[in-house]
Amino acid sequence: MTNFRYKALPVDVYFGNGKSTETKEILLHYGYQKILVLTTPGQEEAGHKLAKELQEICAGVYPHAVMHVPVEVADKAVRFAKDSDIDCYLALGGGSTIGLAKIMALKTHLPIVALPTTYAGSEMTTIYGSTENNLKTTGKDIHVLPKVVIYDPELNITLPAEISACSGMNAMAHAVEALYAEDKNPIISLMAIESIKALKSALPMIVKDLTDISARQKVTYGAWLAGVCLGSVGMAIHHKICHTLGGTFNLPHAQVHAITLAYSVQYNRNADIEAMDRLAEALGASSREEVGLVIYRLNESLGIELALKDIGLPKEGPAEVARIVCDSPYYNPRKYEYNELERLLTKAYLGLPPA
Ligand code: NAD
Repeated sequence: MTNFRYKALPVDVYFGNGKSTETKEILLHYGYQKILVLTTPGQEEAGHKLAKELQEICAGVYPHAVMHVPVEVADKAVRFAKDSDIDCYLALGGGSTIGLAKIMALKTHLPIVALPTTYAGSEMTTIYGSTENNLKTTGKDIHVLPKVVIYDPELNITLPAEISACSGMNAMAHAVEALYAEDKNPIISLMAIESIKALKSALPMIVKDLTDISARQKVTYGAWLAGVCLGSVGMAIHHKICHTLGGTFNLPHAQVHAITLAYSVQYNRNADIEAMDRLAEALGASSREEVGLVIYRLNESLGIELALKDIGLPKEGPAEVARIVCDSPYYNPRKYEYNELERLLTKAYLGLPPA
């Protein structure tokens, strides 16, 4: 074992079926009494239901969260918050809603309590981002880390099958890259392996039956662990590829992660042998040569769209993404090789097996 650094982030986590019904009690425990509920337009109704449960401690519902936090949406929300008498943001939603809460917290230093309803993991990180002219800018700040996260698997039941599957694979991508991160450490690797196993075993059950609450619980557990991984160690080539596909081509976040993970691990399969052998074991693959194919087949069985061309990547996309990724790389255990990346991204574009 090599030397390592492990830094735990200070988040109070409540986990369990039906836990969200205790939200008011938990908020009062923290002394929060003027709550602004945040949602996307699509989850506004759920936001109002929650507001009703909070009764006198709810100051209102702000249902304007949008994917990737456009800067004009963020500015308007911050102005609204500064003009309101509130003491806490309650983010009910996925990465988009939590992302908006983060920008509001960054600018006002008010705390966030999160009720995640997807598996994206933003609630466990100090990473924030916003988008201007198709360019996403990100940063890190402890003020954007939620103080409290309430995981209630029952909140995910309304998440449709394809979004559930893609979001779950988005979580798996955080755990996979944590295994070979530049600053990997044994605690996070344990969490990553546990997360990958939970997601691999329970995602197929969710797709079969969206209301399978024990499977939902297992996936939520896996997603929480994956979020801790994302919040604790640096990510690598896979996240760079996805940020490029999302930022430059405006492709949907979770689907991009789900489709490309198979090709990223194929690229890295011999780069960090210890990590990839552990990944192979967690996925039930016969060897690390197989990890890409096992993830590809898992996507297939989950009914996930397999080709980047079918979610909006243009023909010139693979070459353009390979160029951007090689020009401004993140850390990766294998050197960036343009030709090999373009070859794999072309397979991802066409939806062909990675190996
Ligand atoms: P999302 O939050 O955009 O949600 C996708 C859609 O599903 C939305 O329309 C939403 O209203 C709907 N939805 C969410 N939960 C639902 C539920 N339970 N039932 C029915 N509908 C529901 O998707 P996401 O993938 O969670 O978030 C993506 C965003 O999060 C991206 O902008 C990404 O960059 C960001 N993100 C940030 C971090 C970070 O650490 N900062 C981590 C992961 C993702």
